[in-house]
Amino acid sequence: MSGTLKAVRGTRDLLPPETALWNRIEETARRVFARYNFGEIRTPVFEDTSLFARSVGEETDIVSKEMYTWEDRARAASEKSQSLTLRPENTAGVVRAYIEHKLGETGQLQKLYYIGPQFRRERPQKGRYRQFSQIGAEVIGPPSAGSESPLRDAEVLEMLATLLDELGIGGWTLHINSVGSAADRARYNEILRAALADVAPKMCVDCQRRAVTNPLRVLDCKVPEDQPYIDALPKMADSLDEESKAHFAAVMAALDAAGVSYTRNHRLVRGLDYYTRTTFEFTHGGLGAQNALLGGGRYDGLSEAIGGPKAPGIGFAMGEDRLVLTLEAQQEAKAEKADAYIAPLGEAMNAPALKLARELRRAGLAIELGDGSFRLKKSFETADKTARRIVILGEDELNSGILTVKEFASGEQSKVARTELKRILAMTATA
Ligand code: AMP
Repeated sequence: MSGTLKAVRGTRDLLPPETALWNRIEETARRVFARYNFGEIRTPVFEDTSLFARSVGEETDIVSKEMYTWEDRARAASEKSQSLTLRPENTAGVVRAYIEHKLGETGQLQKLYYIGPQFRRERPQKGRYRQFSQIGAEVIGPPSAGSESPLRDAEVLEMLATLLDELGIGGWTLHINSVGSAADRARYNEILRAALADVAPKMCVDCQRRAVTNPLRVLDCKVPEDQPYIDALPKMADSLDEESKAHFAAVMAALDAAGVSYTRNHRLVRGLDYYTRTTFEFTHGGLGAQNALLGGGRYDGLSEAIGGPKAPGIGFAMGEDRLVLTLEAQQEAKAEKADAYIAPLGEAMNAPALKLARELRRAGLAIELGDGSFRLKKSFETADKTARRIVILGEDELNSGILTVKEFASGEQSKVARTELKRILAMTATA
């Protein structure tokens, strides 16, 4: 093996200061989810392959070509070898856990959120990676708990609008559509199939394939030459039954009442097969080609599709990588500086400096600890890059208990009694 090893194509290392932004996003999400009374779920990173085939759908891009799947060999006679897959999304895992732990038997709505990595073998580009992180949530439960109510859809969308606002992401657009019940979809799929019979041969190769295997997917096509054909196709809205129409109207009425703005997008069918009725996406203009910040929808038949009880639900997944890109474009991620840098003067001061750093850190201050072997000039240079101020600790300071503190922003230098140091550093720490 020669050459330097690098992170695998489509994967990335996240380094400070960017990781501070990731943490801030996650903290904000947790805080907002808590206000809506969601609890966190953590499911395994890999699952039985058939879970995704049966939920996301065999014909989807995800299952047909993007999954990291391997045959896991049995290690003992008591085990069977099994096909496993790194999760390409988290809804299937959450619903699997809902079924496995019989959460439906509580009779209550389950409101669960997750934050974690997902894996898809996609063509990497800005905003699209092979390992990426999603922040998502699901509202799922037996129909008796009100899980089918359009109010749940509207509440989730209102929560997302609030979360994006609290994250400081301005300028998003909410697109909504209804893909109807499973029967509506099946009917519409046949209408599309018939309509595509004539035009598909003039379209891209993917569309030619989809026109046969899964006509609904044609609506996802981004090829510019195909757009006039797609715009002329029959619309899903005309294939909805009365119940689905009423559901969609109720979602929109609740959004209107709450003052959440949205646009109807007839082509929003989303890339996963399990969606029913409401589908949605939040986009952001600053993201370029990969402009979807998040997507989601209702999945009333998913639990049954993977062997569970009737458990209608609605959920979403936000691309955390894309939230970071959007926020970074809005404002440069700044390195957080420590409250103080302690510069021991001479190696004999290293041990007392560690003691001082320990005291200050225990008091909640962020401290950089230098090294007594550094020349004072080097200590100053390092301190200026990493902390807001420098505290000098030499033999005189140790004996007198009076320390020299220099504030870099103002250039001000002062003598501070050691007993006062915590208070002084804390007082201006947030300034
Ligand atoms: P999906 O699970 O396909 O509905 O995607 C939901 C959200 O996850 C999208 O709107 C994106 O923000 C994000 N996402 C999906 N795939 C990727 C990827 N390969 N890289 C980064 N973010 C992604």
